[in-house]
Amino acid sequence: MDKKIKLGISSCLLGENVRYDGGHKLDHYLKDTIGKFVEWTGVCPETECGLGIPREAMHLVGTVESIRLVTRNSKIDHTDRMLKWSEKRLNELKKENISGFIFKNNSPSCGLHKVFHKKGTGIFAMEVIKRFRALPVEDEERLRDENCKKKFIKNIFACKPNA
Ligand code: SF4
Repeated sequence: MDKKIKLGISSCLLGENVRYDGGHKLDHYLKDTIGKFVEWTGVCPETECGLGIPREAMHLVGTVESIRLVTRNSKIDHTDRMLKWSEKRLNELKKENISGFIFKNNSPSCGLHKVFHKKGTGIFAMEVIKRFRALPVEDEERLRDENCKKKFIKNIFACKPNA
């Protein structure tokens, strides 16, 4: 029997309580429907880089060319910590041969679209895109659109190792 396709995913979409407020953003469609056909590799960049749960909410500041990840009230800059951790985690993801990644939208770490100045990408999502240029990526919001979903599914099968 064929091995299941492997996809990276923002862990909070699988119902893990990793958000800054200790909650999750379980997406039933992804977990229960798509989940029957894929093997997930959950990643929570903010928790895994050591920021803890709960933690102060963060946002992106600076310019699109030089984005910084900073806590909202205390203004602590976690950009370097996140980039250092990302480099290690992306090396691990490379070995896992993922065929795509589904990100949580609207997050300063995981968001794919319009997170910063209506066009920026979250800091971890950007590192994934830069490292794996051909990897199909989407967010849970856009995957609610049928055309977007079909295109993403077609692309992940094309990206599957030995496809
Ligand atoms: S959006 Fe990303 S960083 Fe935020 S809780 Fe979900 S997985 Fe973690």
